[in-house]
Amino acid sequence: MKAVVYETFQGPLTIQNVPDPTPKKHSVIVKVKATGLCRSDWHGWMGHDPDIVLPHIPGHELAGEIAAIGRDVKKFKVGQRVTVPFVCGCGTCGECSSGNHQVCGYQSQPGFTHWGSFAEYVALDYADTNLVLLPDEIDDRTAATLGCRFITSYRAIVAQGRVQAGQSVAVHGCGGVGLSAIMIAKAFDAKVIAIDINDEALTLAKELGADTTINATANSAILTQINEVSKGGVHVSLDALGSEITCLNSIHSLRKRGKHIQVGLMTGNHKHPKIPMDKVIANELEILGSHGMQAHKYPEMLALIKEKRLQPEKLIERTLSLQEVLTALPNMNSFENKGVLIVDSF
Ligand SMILES: [Zn+2]
Ligand SMILES: [Zn+2]
Repeated sequence: MKAVVYETFQGPLTIQNVPDPTPKKHSVIVKVKATGLCRSDWHGWMGHDPDIVLPHIPGHELAGEIAAIGRDVKKFKVGQRVTVPFVCGCGTCGECSSGNHQVCGYQSQPGFTHWGSFAEYVALDYADTNLVLLPDEIDDRTAATLGCRFITSYRAIVAQGRVQAGQSVAVHGCGGVGLSAIMIAKAFDAKVIAIDINDEALTLAKELGADTTINATANSAILTQINEVSKGGVHVSLDALGSEITCLNSIHSLRKRGKHIQVGLMTGNHKHPKIPMDKVIANELEILGSHGMQAHKYPEMLALIKEKRLQPEKLIERTLSLQEVLTALPNMNSFENKGVLIVDSF
């Protein structure tokens, strides 16, 4: 099959012909119809993910059609349209048994623990536990926006943040994750403050429903402004970028008993920010993470997409060919894109 391959971290990406994947007994092989390009792919290529074994095929946000199934797969058959959360739980460990597949200790992740979806075919493990059937109303490109950034934001707003109508939400960073979070928070009738350093990203944030936008480079007093707009701090704040400054700004945006949710990945020098634990205790703040979302939680989100209360297709900036990934992936850290890039020709 045709696939995007890198043989060294930070080295060239090339299109190569590699052997087609074959299913393990609990896996399926999916013919990839659409796949999103995410900053986590860039982190992987940089060498930030210890799970990656070279040579490697990246790609972890995908939708496609089942082409082959392992002998133990009971719930799915060849020809069905499916998607998958980027964290595939084993289905049997303690975390999975409690319904928390997103933190499974034996998780597999396409594009990280094994070859991913910038290819004609991808293997998906523990298929009965992790595959999500796609309704006809949701096309492949839209479904390919869901598997990482969108579900992580959905879980952040709905399950971790438990955002209620009328509450205020700050979103620090308006890339794919942040824009998803803004759309989802608005669908739950929150008042949303979007913060970024790029005016074009903020324009898009406004189009997706942000009530207030703040440019963090043009304004040195963003915390004061957030405090004023939210009348004393927000109920829930997300670091949707993943950096020490956005993490700390997010925590300082909170009102008493507010929730900070870390959604953007923290790598390199940003791994261990100086969290103000004095403020955490005095104000009873909650510091939470959001790491994907379990397949069994998809139906409620897909229902909102079918009702058009959520419109993830609006996040798509443009579609690409597999060939274009070779230049687009190394560029993911330059933040030139104002939305989600989807590969839909292979
Ligand atoms: Zn598990
Ligand atoms: Zn991702």
